[in-house]
Amino acid sequence: MGALIAISLIASQSWASYGKFPPPVAPFTNAKLPTRTVAVPMIFPIIGSFSLGGRYNVSRGRYLHTGVDIKAAKMTPVVAPFSGIIGFKKHTFWIYGDNGYKCLGTHLNDDTPGTRDGKNNFDYMFSPMIKFGERVEQGQLIGYVGDSGKATGPHLHFELFDKKSIIDPVVSLHYAQKIYSPRVPLTNRQPAPAPGEEIYYVCKKNYFPINGTLYGLLVAKQYGNRIIPTTRPTFVTFTIPEAIRNGSNPNNSGLHSSTLETPEAGHPLPNPPGLIEAWPTNKPAAITFTRKGGYNLVTQVAAP
Ligand SMILES: [Zn+2]
Repeated sequence: MGALIAISLIASQSWASYGKFPPPVAPFTNAKLPTRTVAVPMIFPIIGSFSLGGRYNVSRGRYLHTGVDIKAAKMTPVVAPFSGIIGFKKHTFWIYGDNGYKCLGTHLNDDTPGTRDGKNNFDYMFSPMIKFGERVEQGQLIGYVGDSGKATGPHLHFELFDKKSIIDPVVSLHYAQKIYSPRVPLTNRQPAPAPGEEIYYVCKKNYFPINGTLYGLLVAKQYGNRIIPTTRPTFVTFTIPEAIRNGSNPNNSGLHSSTLETPEAGHPLPNPPGLIEAWPTNKPAAITFTRKGGYNLVTQVAAP
C-alpha cells in the first residue's frame, strides 16, 4: 500500500512539471476516433526499413488504437517529423510543431543494446541533443526504436493531432519524405579540418577537471566540409590538454571570451576555470584532433 501511494505521488509530480508542454493525450475509449483525412507535410519518423503494423481506429479490446504502429528493428533511429518544441518522458516523446500539429511517439528503446535488461538508460533511448521544452529541427535524431512498455515487438507507436483532436496519421505517413541520415543542427559548425585532423561533435556526459578527461556521446563527425551524423549511441573519451583547458592556447577559439568574435566560437562563456563544466549537456562541443600512436591529440575545442 505504501509503495502504491509513493508511485502515484511521483506520477502526479512529473505531470505537473511538464509546464507548457504536457504530452498530448489520446482518447481511451471504444467510441470511433475522428476520421477526417489530413496530410501533414512531414519527414517519415524513422530512418531505414519498416512495415506498418496496427492501424488507427482498430479495436484493442477496451479502446481503439490511437495511432499507427511503425514496425522496425530495435535501435532504428527516430527523427523529428516536423520542427517544434520537444517534450518527453520515459519511452515517449512528443513535439509541439511550428505547423500547429502535434505528434507523439512511444515504445522507444529501454534496453542496453544486445540485451533485454530493461534498464531505461537515457543514452540508449533518446538522442543526447534533446532537452525538454527546447526546439528540435525537422529530421533531427530524437531517439531509438524499442519494445518498451507493453509492446510485443519493436515498433514506434505514432500519433498525430491537429488543433481540434487526434487524427489518423496514415495519410501523412504515406506521403512523408524519407531521409537517409538525420539532420544535425549545430551552433558551432567548424571550417574544414586541416589535413590529418578530424572534428568530432560531442555532447558532454562527464567531465573530470583534475585530468581534463571529457567523456561524451558522439553526435557527428566532420570530414572536410561534410558532417556525418551518428545514428547509434557512440561513447567517446578525450583528454583536453591543459593549454586548452586554461584558455592559454591562442588557437583555441571556443575557450576564451576574448576571442568570441570568431563566428564559430558559439555563445559567450564565463572565463576558465569551470568552463567545460558550464557547457550544456545537450549541445555538442566541436573537438578537433589528430590521431598519433593510438592517442587522440586534441588541438582545438570549440564550445557548444
Ligand atoms: Zn500502437
